[in-house]
This record gives sequence, structure tokens and C-alpha cells, in this order.
Amino acid sequence: MPNLTSNEILEFRRKKLTHQERKAIKLAEKSNNPWDHKSLPRPPRDLVESAKVKIRDFHLDRTQKSCCYCGRSLRDAEIETDREHIIPKKDKKGLSYNLFNLSVSCKRCNMSYKKERTDHIVDFDTIEHDMFNPARYKIPHPNIDTYEDHIFRFSLQFGRREITTYKRKSEKGRFLYSFVNLRELCVLQLDLAQTGRSVHDGFRRMFGVSDRGL
Ligand SMILES: [Zn+2]
Repeated sequence: MPNLTSNEILEFRRKKLTHQERKAIKLAEKSNNPWDHKSLPRPPRDLVESAKVKIRDFHLDRTQKSCCYCGRSLRDAEIETDREHIIPKKDKKGLSYNLFNLSVSCKRCNMSYKKERTDHIVDFDTIEHDMFNPARYKIPHPNIDTYEDHIFRFSLQFGRREITTYKRKSEKGRFLYSFVNLRELCVLQLDLAQTGRSVHDGFRRMFGVSDRGL
């Protein structure tokens, strides 16, 4: 995934959002809880809602419809998509609609693990002044880092059998692995009695990973 450039951000705001949507977001940003458009009067509630759909679709395109943390496909009907704030919006309300600070994740990663945590950010208090610096994030940032440079998700389904594992390739990959508990998503559903050790061993040789990841 290439870096999200400031030109792309400007282009999104100018070309994808309507003038009314941009105005509605500005109004929302002045409220106590900017991201909670449901508490806004109508208008601008509908306009904020349509802008949020556009933001989600923009990031679904960027991630090729996958969760920015676990890498699972968001095309799967059972996996619900959340708009994800990399820097939590709770304490940094001004970043609620900042396209760079947003991505898409699955509900599991967002609600069960990431929540409002801030320990994935180096010096949280000053992050908004240096938010484009990849060194300020202990996880791969979906808009400045390439996911596969840090952690590689391998998943294979054949018949009813499945192998899913993660190869941790950097400090950021290792941090992310425990941050959203990717261990829980590793699967080895191979009936070794039927398929033989060779499938398991071949898999390990090919990808240098085990069913428990590395
Ligand atoms: Zn996820």
C-alpha cells in the first residue's frame, strides 16, 4: 500500500466531498463529540453521515477491503467493518475527520483489542504535531507503512481445512501481533493423520512459519 500523500488527502476533500459535506464536518468538529453525528441536528447530520460513508469507502479501496490490523478480508459477510482512528479520537477530537488518521478495521480488532489504547503511540501528548512520522507509531501505520514489510499474513483454505499464520518481520510487526492478539487468529486445521506430515513440514519449509507464527 503506497503512502497516503497530502495531495491525495486534498483531492479527496475537494473532489469526493461536496461543499455541503465539508461545511457539515466543520460544524461537527465544533461539537463536544465530533464523530458522533447522530447527536447533531438534521442537517448537518445526513451530510456528515454521507461524508463518513465516503471516508470508509476511500479506505476500503486503499486496504483492498482488508482490516488494517489483522489483514483479514472485510468482504466476508461475518466480519463487520469499522472506521478506525489510528490515534484515538477520544483524547484527540480534532483528528476525528482527519483522513490520514483514519483507516478501516474489523470490529474484533477495534472493539476487543485496540479500543482507546494509546500505548502504540510514542509520546501520545505531542503526536498531533508529528503524526506523519512513522517512528511515532509502534505498529505499522496503514497510511505510511507497508503492512507486509512488518507482518505477513498467510492464509490458505482448501476444502474444509485452513491454515492461517502471521510471520512477524519487524519490531512493529511484533508489537501489532500482541497489540491485537493475532495469535488468536492463527489456525491449523489439518488432519495430519490423513494429509501426512509432509503437508505440515512443506508448509513450514516454504514459508518459514509454523502454526503458531514466529
Ligand atoms: Zn482485524
